[in-house]
Amino acid sequence: MDAVNLLGFDLPGLAAYCEQLGEKKFRATQLFRWIHQKGASDFEQMSDLAKSLREKLAGRALIRGLDVISEHVSADGTIKWLFDVGAGNAVEAVFIPEDDRGTLCISSQAGCAVGCRFCSTGHQGFSRNLTTAEIVAQLWFAEHNLRQRQNTDERVISNVVMMGMGEPLQNYDQLVPALRTMLDDHGYGLSRRRVTVSTSGVVPMIDRLREDCPVALAVSLHAPTDPLRDQLVPLNKKYPIAELLDACNRYLEKAPRDFITFEYCMLQEVNDAPEQARELVKLLKHRVNCKVNLIPFNPFPASGLVRSTNARVQAFAVVLVQAGIVTTVRKTRGDDIDAACGQLAGEVQDRTRAHIRMVRAPVTVAKST
Ligand code: SAH
Ligand code: SF4
Repeated sequence: MDAVNLLGFDLPGLAAYCEQLGEKKFRATQLFRWIHQKGASDFEQMSDLAKSLREKLAGRALIRGLDVISEHVSADGTIKWLFDVGAGNAVEAVFIPEDDRGTLCISSQAGCAVGCRFCSTGHQGFSRNLTTAEIVAQLWFAEHNLRQRQNTDERVISNVVMMGMGEPLQNYDQLVPALRTMLDDHGYGLSRRRVTVSTSGVVPMIDRLREDCPVALAVSLHAPTDPLRDQLVPLNKKYPIAELLDACNRYLEKAPRDFITFEYCMLQEVNDAPEQARELVKLLKHRVNCKVNLIPFNPFPASGLVRSTNARVQAFAVVLVQAGIVTTVRKTRGDDIDAACGQLAGEVQDRTRAHIRMVRAPVTVAKST
């Protein structure tokens, strides 16, 4: 039988596993702390763990991270890792250091089935869901690697955002134990406000997350109207904007923050006109307590799309701000190493020919004038 990877258990899961081995539950807490707080991967290291348990674990279980294919360090300190997840697939994680925090952006799937027009992960099609162990392994590796580099025992990563490759809410069952490990005081001890799930809008799963593990929520909106959003985020045909906004309001009842972040990728002459900013105001104002994060599009050749000019981004932002909507423009970080989320186009094998479908169906914009 294959050895069990303990990175795949949240604390209750590990406790149940220890019980199966005939061990007391509190042993699981010790073990969990060794794994996540100390970064141990070898049972022999775990000096305060009963020898009998260490012997039981050896052979049955292991603590296995992902193999690193490459690491790129940007001039601004951003670090991007590419991890091997087997069968020609790779996923990325990006560490973004800032003065008051360290944010890790991690992946939830190899590829993505949603197929957003402006997203290079979407253009690759879907390969497979990551397991809980593979999701957690990105944080486990990054946290302990960074501590070593910085020669510290203190926590380096203070925030985690599920904004790498994949749609986290289409991998719900593997996602939730990973989130719980991030939040657990015996694990990474991150507050709910500092763990963000970003979604293209899987409405039923937003409702489940609210009940199971309400963390900060970011919703990828990208368009003020259904016809345009249908083209940019195909999932909109299934869960249109009105339903999505209702789900956001239900989420707010349990959310750790009193707002939802709406992400809006700025695409020149597609969704970035002042008129569209006014439509966005109409849509959001008095309807959902929110902030808007404008993301300058990160171009990639197959997209056929262009990043909005700074002037257009600013003009768009001004309309929102004047209407009283808190708006930020995302700084582009790690530009020199392509560290933007979803930028590892060539690395996952396209098993679905998604890019051909997308190139054949260009975005058409109904001009409002
Ligand atoms: N699937 C989830 C999370 C991963 S994508 C989601 O869609 O929300 C994380 C964010 O990066 C999303 O807001 C997404 O719209 C944005 N994004 C994807 N491709 C991009 C690109 N080429 N340029 C800028 N932002 C992009
Ligand atoms: Fe998937 Fe998010 Fe990319 Fe859309 S933007 S294709 S949902 S990863």
